[in-house]
Amino acid sequence: MGTAVVDNKNLIEGATGDWEVVIGLEVHAQVTSKSKLFSGASTEFGGEPNAHVSLVDAAMPGMLPVINEECVAQAVRTGLGLKAEINHVSVFARKNYFYPDLPQGYQISQFDKPIVGEGEVLLDMKDGSTITIGIERLHLEQDAGKSLHDQHPDFSFVDLNRSGVALMEIVSKPDMRSAEQARAYVTKLRTILRYLGTCDGNMEEGSMRADVNVSVRRPGEALGIRTETKNVNSIRFIGQTIEHEAVRQVDILEDGGEIHQETRLFDPKTGKTRAMRSKEEAHDYRYFPCPDLLPLEIDDEYIEELAKHLPELPDQKKDRLMSEYGLSAYDANILVASRANADFFEKVANGRDAKLAVNWVMGDLSAHANAKGVAIAEAGVTADQLGGIIDLISNGTISGKIAKDVLEIIMEEGGDPAEIVKARGLMQVSDSGEIEAIIDEIIKANPKQVEEVRDKPKAIGWFVGQVMQKTKGKANPGMVNALLREKLDLGE
Ligand code: ADP
Ligand code: MG
Repeated sequence: MGTAVVDNKNLIEGATGDWEVVIGLEVHAQVTSKSKLFSGASTEFGGEPNAHVSLVDAAMPGMLPVINEECVAQAVRTGLGLKAEINHVSVFARKNYFYPDLPQGYQISQFDKPIVGEGEVLLDMKDGSTITIGIERLHLEQDAGKSLHDQHPDFSFVDLNRSGVALMEIVSKPDMRSAEQARAYVTKLRTILRYLGTCDGNMEEGSMRADVNVSVRRPGEALGIRTETKNVNSIRFIGQTIEHEAVRQVDILEDGGEIHQETRLFDPKTGKTRAMRSKEEAHDYRYFPCPDLLPLEIDDEYIEELAKHLPELPDQKKDRLMSEYGLSAYDANILVASRANADFFEKVANGRDAKLAVNWVMGDLSAHANAKGVAIAEAGVTADQLGGIIDLISNGTISGKIAKDVLEIIMEEGGDPAEIVKARGLMQVSDSGEIEAIIDEIIKANPKQVEEVRDKPKAIGWFVGQVMQKTKGKANPGMVNALLREKLDLGE
């Protein structure tokens, strides 16, 4: 299954020669589900501490976990979205360790028999290349609770609201070769999860976080020793972790030192990583099959049923937008990065000139959205309103220039484009008599420019500008050009 294309531009230049960075990510994604993995307690974010804790989540003696079927379905859907092997038999295992926010004294996870096996994620890079990142496996596990150290001067408190919430751990192969690729991978993975509706991808709320494995090697050599930076919770921080780790490791190796396999922490304040614990201090988790749960068995019929109801995914949508509307790969990539934006575009393009729709959505609207720092679909105009503006351009009622004004009016005040154009008298002047009169006047008043344009036909732009100024931008531009050429004797 897919190994990344090694892009030679990604090499790091050291004092003693080139180095290659190797990255593998373990992404923890909270499963979208109303209740927890093994209990009926709510998964709602932001409740009062310990408001969503069942006896199972609090690990009261004698409580038994019961698998939540929706979480299983979500994991299978995700596996299908990652074009991965779905395992018909998987096993929940106890991962034993002590932590105050882990009341069971173990986490129920999956170890050697995960629910999902090998898959892949395609990345469209900025330079136009497409690379494939392999997925090693996806397994289901419980989240832990949270220790609160800032509530009391003498005590720490424990909030078990997250205890038992279902997580998918999605483990990539060591296929990434730069911070840029890793950022693109997490972005794409998040988009796929959001399309599938299996994780909301809100990294600020902790719904997605990554363990970042980084090593360096001489190009062509075997994999180097890696460090693992835990729980990095933003795409930017993941990039910073890699950039910092790569340089740190190269410096150590070039000074004749060795990299130790260790767990590190990223500090957002400094942009650096620091050691947390070494391999020698690593936990021995003593994994063993959880005696409270039977192996999880799923059959082909179940998988096929879920596959049948999967939504169109970003890669398919991209291909379809390109073939159906003639979008460039670049524009299609931008649109499919968010399902809401792609849907918005399709609603605007519906039954209209696709080229105009693309230009307006990717041009003016996208610029407004960027300026406001919001998504295209949230820029303050509905698809129907933008579609209405495009209709007015297509049927010659307004010029493209006036359309920009109408768009701004709608973003400020709302309203129906056709009514706004009518009420404000913004209709394009396509009355040739009216335009001719204006042109005659301009020609008469500017003999010098008339002389000039005969030698330099490009200077016609100046005349067009004058007509537009006099008509407040409402003259039909095609008509203005044709009439000017005729009257200035410039030929076709
Ligand atoms: P563990 O459970 O100890 O973290 P895994 O075998 O599950 O070990 O690997 C964890 C992650 O580390 C995977 O994403 C894998 O791609 C990545 N990885 C493994 N070896 C290397 C390496 N030499 N350099 C960078 N990443 C690596
Ligand atoms: Mg790991």
